[in-house]
Amino acid sequence: MTPSGPAGPGEHVTGGLVAVHAHPDDETLSTGALLAAFADAGRPVTVVTATRGERGEVIGHRLAHLQGDGPALAAHRETELAAALTALGVADHAFVDRLAPASSGRYEDSGMVWTGSARAGLGAEVPAGAFVGVPVDEAAERLARLLRRRRPDVVATYDPEGGYGHPDHVRAHQVTMRALELTTGPAWSPVVLWRRAGRTETAAAAAALEAHGPWPEGLTLTDPAGETAALVVTDEAVQLAVDVRPLRDQVVGALRAHATQVQAVTPIDGDVRLLGAFALSNRLLQPLLPHEGYEVVAGDPGAVEWPAPVHRRRTGSDGGPSTRR
Ligand SMILES: [Zn+2]
Repeated sequence: MTPSGPAGPGEHVTGGLVAVHAHPDDETLSTGALLAAFADAGRPVTVVTATRGERGEVIGHRLAHLQGDGPALAAHRETELAAALTALGVADHAFVDRLAPASSGRYEDSGMVWTGSARAGLGAEVPAGAFVGVPVDEAAERLARLLRRRRPDVVATYDPEGGYGHPDHVRAHQVTMRALELTTGPAWSPVVLWRRAGRTETAAAAAALEAHGPWPEGLTLTDPAGETAALVVTDEAVQLAVDVRPLRDQVVGALRAHATQVQAVTPIDGDVRLLGAFALSNRLLQPLLPHEGYEVVAGDPGAVEWPAPVHRRRTGSDGGPSTRR
């Protein structure tokens, strides 16, 4: 792998990690530990975000006036994103619509509706400027230019269902995979990761939440036996896992930076099943899992020098599981 130092804005660096996300907060919620692990190891890290989350709900009274005011909410969430990236140690960030050739308009949050306790879908109306209305190839070509220049060792994004079905997450997945199709070949073929979570750890952490109450009024507990998000898969399907424990402070700091989107961020000590809890605007309490899991969908993970908290989980040819750094 190409040796390279820490990434700074505008520096020409290669290697390391590029993570592609839909909205501010997703980089932390979905890949926060992976980002912090690479950043801690002094490896180049770039976060790419498709939209500014301007159609989301706003938590708290103080900034409630921002809800429904797209441009103002976008501007505020850019500052929250910047603070979260600082907490994670990430110095390099780009919005897809600002990648060359820069879009004349912005790629905007498409909005979503809950279709279940852990599933979302597109609302009845697709707003003008919505990211889901942008042709996949248009956004993919912008991202492809960044990938050709950055040549990361690892590219991380969501699974085909966007983790839980948010239309912008699904589109971010499609744009990332298309950009990889346009750029990878014999000269460069990164390890491609989709965020996943193992069923056993997810259920155990959800069950453990109840023991750590009482929780602030208005928050509800996840039903451990209830519907799970699309990213939750069989334990064996999680092929790579980041140990979140040594990175918890960074992740908690980044979660707190997203105050209009994440509430009740609470570190929990002394329970192997979870490291903390938080809730989004749906007021459903979620555990901070001890591991951040990934499915390896392309590339050779054996060719990457992984930061210490990242562990590969392999199923050996003898059928027995083995663990290797
Ligand atoms: Zn999102």
